[in-house]
Amino acid sequence: MRWAERHAPSNPLVPFSPVITVDRVTCASCGRAIHPNQRALEARESGDRLCLTCGRRALMQWADRRRLEAAAARRLAQDLGAGAETRVA
Ligand SMILES: [Zn+2]
Repeated sequence: MRWAERHAPSNPLVPFSPVITVDRVTCASCGRAIHPNQRALEARESGDRLCLTCGRRALMQWADRRRLEAAAARRLAQDLGAGAETRVA
């Protein structure tokens, strides 16, 4: 099996997951109250809860950064294919 296949996560990993709140919590970004039984986004690393407005914005920003990283990776792969000189670190 190829390296990329062996190392690919089975699902694309997004650092926020949608949750339904049980208790009343405050949004970690804007401080607005998120009432029980409301949809919110939970940050995978910190466990912070974000209201839908802030959560959507955070997701879009994360996606934009990933897009830039993907473009840089693609550019590097193309450069290597073109036989460009490897920078000596
Ligand atoms: Zn918020």
